[in-house]
Amino acid sequence: MDHDNDSYSNERSRNDLALRMIRHEARTCTIRECTGLTDDRIRRLYKSYAHELSEAPVRRRRGKSPRQVTFFVRNTRAQFESSLLAGAFAAFGLLYAITNQMPSEPPDALDYGRRFCDAYETHQQLLNTPTLSFEHAWFLLQLLNRSGDLRAVRCRHCDSYYLRDKFNLCRHTCPTCRLKRARVRRVRPRRPCSSSRAVMRD
Ligand SMILES: [Zn+2]
Repeated sequence: MDHDNDSYSNERSRNDLALRMIRHEARTCTIRECTGLTDDRIRRLYKSYAHELSEAPVRRRRGKSPRQVTFFVRNTRAQFESSLLAGAFAAFGLLYAITNQMPSEPPDALDYGRRFCDAYETHQQLLNTPTLSFEHAWFLLQLLNRSGDLRAVRCRHCDSYYLRDKFNLCRHTCPTCRLKRARVRRVRPRRPCSSSRAVMRD
């Protein structure tokens, strides 16, 4: 009886996570990796439940998964947003590269998937207009934990952590400091032009 309850509970947990990921328009391969469900089961979940979960239609992502490292540092805003998401990964214990604590055993896939959804949803709530898709966020975590192409460094000026791409020399400075400088430039009053100074002297 207990065995039946456990297997029912496990099946329910896997379905719940799959549906949560479907809401975020995750790819089938990503859902399979976290839940262990078959492609056919995931397809049936899409068909049976997707339209009941949200008023907005849920799209199934097709085509190639994100592959470009430079996507995360392509401009100041993207670099800042990716850096914030990396902070959320660290807060939910997903970022082994920063803590230098690689788990001795592979993490439980279901638990890993749930914590990933927690981190992604928290990040979405913190930003007014988040632009990173679920699949880009998933790719970012793989990049941070498995390759040295993108890594978190600490800014000497503001002490914040930000992501730096080892290939792109243009994005080697801190996005937080760049955003601060841009804001100061926007709010600083314009200096009077020479003609108006002449008027004032008169
Ligand atoms: Zn800085």
